[in-house]
Amino acid sequence: QCPWGAPSTTSISCSLADVMSEQLAKELQLEEENAAFPEVVAAAEGPFITGENIDTSSDLMLAQMLQMEFDREYDAQLRREEKKINGDSKVSISFENYRKVHPYDSDSSEDEVDWQDTRHDPYRADKPTTTSRRGFIGKGKDITTKHDEVVCGRKNTARMENFAPEFQVGDGIGMDLKLSNQVFNALKQHAYSEERRSARLHEKKEHSTAEKAVDPKTRLLLYKMVNSGMLETITGCISTGKESVVFHAYGGNSATEDKVIPAECAIKVFKTTLNEFKNRDKYIKDDYRFKDRFSKLNPRKIIRMWAEKEMHNLTRMQNAGIPCPQVVILKKHVLVMSFIGQDQVPAPKLKDVTLSSEDMKKAYYQILNMMQQLYRECNLVHADLSEYNMLWHDGKVWLIDVSQSVEPTHPHGLEFLFRDCRNVSQFFQKGGVAEALNERELFNAVSGLNITADNEVDFQAEIEALEKMNEDHVQNHGKKLSTFSSDGDPPIYDE
Ligand code: ADP
Ligand code: MN
Repeated sequence: QCPWGAPSTTSISCSLADVMSEQLAKELQLEEENAAFPEVVAAAEGPFITGENIDTSSDLMLAQMLQMEFDREYDAQLRREEKKINGDSKVSISFENYRKVHPYDSDSSEDEVDWQDTRHDPYRADKPTTTSRRGFIGKGKDITTKHDEVVCGRKNTARMENFAPEFQVGDGIGMDLKLSNQVFNALKQHAYSEERRSARLHEKKEHSTAEKAVDPKTRLLLYKMVNSGMLETITGCISTGKESVVFHAYGGNSATEDKVIPAECAIKVFKTTLNEFKNRDKYIKDDYRFKDRFSKLNPRKIIRMWAEKEMHNLTRMQNAGIPCPQVVILKKHVLVMSFIGQDQVPAPKLKDVTLSSEDMKKAYYQILNMMQQLYRECNLVHADLSEYNMLWHDGKVWLIDVSQSVEPTHPHGLEFLFRDCRNVSQFFQKGGVAEALNERELFNAVSGLNITADNEVDFQAEIEALEKMNEDHVQNHGKKLSTFSSDGDPPIYDE
């Protein structure tokens, strides 16, 4: 007999319904888990990288912030190692290629570093290792080919130096160690797969700044805005241009100072890629407001200056009562302003909306007035005025996109104004507004100047002569004319 006594034969009764409900519960739980932890791949993409799939769940943001912190620490360690290895040696090695954080993303390189220092391209491909053309060395009997076992083994060992520094190869490099091809290749394979991981990260970072997405640093800025309660949620991307990405957001309830945050906001993120901005130099370099600051700036600061310029210009317009977005806050290269539109739908651009002939005429006169106000009260020329940068909302025209706007006495200010006039006048003439002035009449009406040339070429020449006169005045008197002399105030046009 069994010393433990007879086993009890009573089995726990379990109804079919119970079994089913347990299964159901499991399924439900699984579903929930799936919802809470979506595809790992999707998470790795980051909230702003995919464009459509914008998820600002703060857990993900937090994870990314931590990752960035981790990467920074890793880089710091790398720098320490670099320093230790180099010591006072005249010849130094650099681990730059193995950094995880793009130099523009790290705080340290942000403010002191200038153009020259940021030239280094961390994504530069390694030089291909050259092999001897002949493939052998030595003479007669002592000839050794590149396939020689000993030579090859030593070479393999030496080649381990090419692996990334975080890849531990022990102290074999210093010894007369001969690695067989087989072992070396296995090691190489492993080292490269490790390296590829960080390379992928690099690539993604590069992409995220180059294309429509925003870089980690910007994402952090946006996250902080949401976290501080200034913004409620960032819902999605309205527009991706060459120089900026615009997001829609619902305003939060944390009123900053005396300002109430609008219910809906537009966030304009000026792109941190430099290429596009280089050809905008002429707008800012010659703008005396920014003159002293231009020369000693690094690219990052120049981009911030565009955002700053847009903010100042919007404020001037706001003060003059011109319909335009209201500035909420400027943080580095991110400008938050009120949203023109409703329920996440941005107001249509003038080029995309079909107006009745009555509204068309109304819009024309409104724009004429706004251009005059801009010139006289704000002392500004839009410099990119067209049906692309005017929105139709609430039965009127709103001006946007004024980062490139300049003062009329800018060396090319009048040319910019003439171009604006041409765009406006062509749009409304094509749009069937019989009253629309031609570009030259419009120019005179806005500027109050009285240029009499009756053809485009002469008109342009007179404009340039005026600009030159202004520049000469700057040369001789060290300051600009406060305004261009005119025959009094421009006439105010009204319906
Ligand atoms: P870009 O320099 O890229 O042209 P814009 O300032 O013109 O930048 O913005 C791009 C687009 O984003 C605009 O055409 C408009 O559709 C939208 N947008 C920008 N600001 C606002 C805003 N405050 N409210 C609504 N939509 C906006
Ligand atoms: Mn625009």
